[in-house]
Amino acid sequence: MSTESKGTAIVTGASSGIGQVYAERLAARGYDLILVARRLERLEALGKKITAETGRKVEAIQADLTQREGVAKVEARLASDPTITLLVNNAGISLEGSLLENDTAKIEQIIAINTVAPTVLTAAAAKQFVARDKGGIINIASVLAFAPEMFDGIYSGTKAHLINVSQSLAARVKDTNVRVQAVLPGATRSEIWENSGKDVDALLPGMVMETADLVDAALLGFDRGEVVTIPPLHDEAQFLAYEAARHAMGPNLSRKEVAPRYRA
Ligand code: NAP
Repeated sequence: MSTESKGTAIVTGASSGIGQVYAERLAARGYDLILVARRLERLEALGKKITAETGRKVEAIQADLTQREGVAKVEARLASDPTITLLVNNAGISLEGSLLENDTAKIEQIIAINTVAPTVLTAAAAKQFVARDKGGIINIASVLAFAPEMFDGIYSGTKAHLINVSQSLAARVKDTNVRVQAVLPGATRSEIWENSGKDVDALLPGMVMETADLVDAALLGFDRGEVVTIPPLHDEAQFLAYEAARHAMGPNLSRKEVAPRYRA
């Protein structure tokens, strides 16, 4: 247990699953915490337990991050509290069914929580952290960003957005002491499965990671300064080749002349 304060970490979606483990691990590393979610009683119970175990200060903020007012509450705190040194954008949902089965309200809801909220909060944190030349932003994305055909397309699209935003911001702040990381879990045992009408136990057991293993690995990646951390991917060379191919396309992506294959 660390006794020296590392500042305050905001963890969204800390009332269960991956976010709860981030809260526990960050407190053990010496962060005071601001925990955000809708289920206040869960946040408060977790806060009490963490304070008893680590002595760190823990505050709970009840906010619905699908709503503008909920996001604004956290955004305002990021803008006004200079003790904040870390933001973990973890709150998120999955959907039952694909684009073909979901109505407008459901589609807007998942984009609001998985995409709009973390992007707005990343921007709010980044402005403060860059001004202070210190801070970290961790965005919980998903490996499904790389496998849109495998699952429900809306969810994977929201996670691809988060990786894109994280990589872009990381490039912008590379000469500062601000760190940006996208974490890409594979299937991880949490309530998200049941909440979106799926059975995690229907997957092969070798495909499902525990939340504690995921978060410990992700924090190791953060400590190493990784921009993209994929705890379940054993063969890192596959990701490096993917990134190399993407970067190689970069200089060729904008041309006056139409590519010969599209000339009539
Ligand atoms: P989880 O246990 O269901 O946790 C989701 C968290 O998000 C909860 O704390 C929930 O709190 C919060 N949340 C949901 N809707 C919210 C809203 N409208 N406003 C504020 N908070 C809200 O699931 P998890 O697996 O730990 O998910 C954490 C992150 O990991 C998500 O971004 C998810 O997409 C990502 N991820 C998970 C897996 C996986 O297999 N588990 C894989 C890849 C990525 P309240 O209900 O109390 O609001």
